[in-house]
Amino acid sequence: MKIILFGPQGAGKGVIGEFLSKKLNIPLLGAGQILRDAIKEGSSVGKIAEKYINEGNLVPPKVMSDVMRERVSKKDCKKGFIIEGFPRNLEQDRFFPVADEADLLIELTAPRELLIRRLAGRRLCRKCGAVYNIDPECAPHPKVKGKCDKCGGELYQRDDDKKEAILKRLQIYDNETIPILKKHKNKVHVIDTTGTPDENFKRVMEIVGK
Ligand code: AMP
Repeated sequence: MKIILFGPQGAGKGVIGEFLSKKLNIPLLGAGQILRDAIKEGSSVGKIAEKYINEGNLVPPKVMSDVMRERVSKKDCKKGFIIEGFPRNLEQDRFFPVADEADLLIELTAPRELLIRRLAGRRLCRKCGAVYNIDPECAPHPKVKGKCDKCGGELYQRDDDKKEAILKRLQIYDNETIPILKKHKNKVHVIDTTGTPDENFKRVMEIVGK
């Protein structure tokens, strides 16, 4: 099964993507995480991407589309995959029209104040990329403060989860990503992710149907 998760930053694409990946036993391809890994490795793509990411801007469409096309062609994607964070604008949708071949396009939505709270409280594991939240109203909380439950790695806040970059990224979503959803509107399922993670997973599974 090929699934693409859309939604503004903070709507839960990463957490729901991980859940689906385990449930369906297919890989989660997070566009942002692939770029962060490339930066960590110091690859040529990483060098291009770093400046754009830190300023909260989108990486050029051709670069991003080539990265995703190559990732999807790998052996582990033969049975299917879950993409989150790609395509993010109409140019990417044209360069690599993976939305056309996908079985399901899912749009996750939540009120803007909640998105901002989730993003400001978000912490990532420096080692394995697992996602946590330190806001009392948001989940999942790490069991030990500042440490990853899975690998014990240090948790950090992304530069682009700071207030100014957050607002810019939400604006880019409205201006550039919403038009893709309009283009594919007959195939898009909208899911509200205001609930707890369990409630949200349940809603997603009703659509995925397994
Ligand atoms: P995310 O982890 O999805 O919030 O993405 C973090 C950052 O990576 C974004 O703010 C962009 O700078 C970059 N990025 C992620 N996905 C894309 C994409 N599809 N196209 C261009 N840039 C992207």
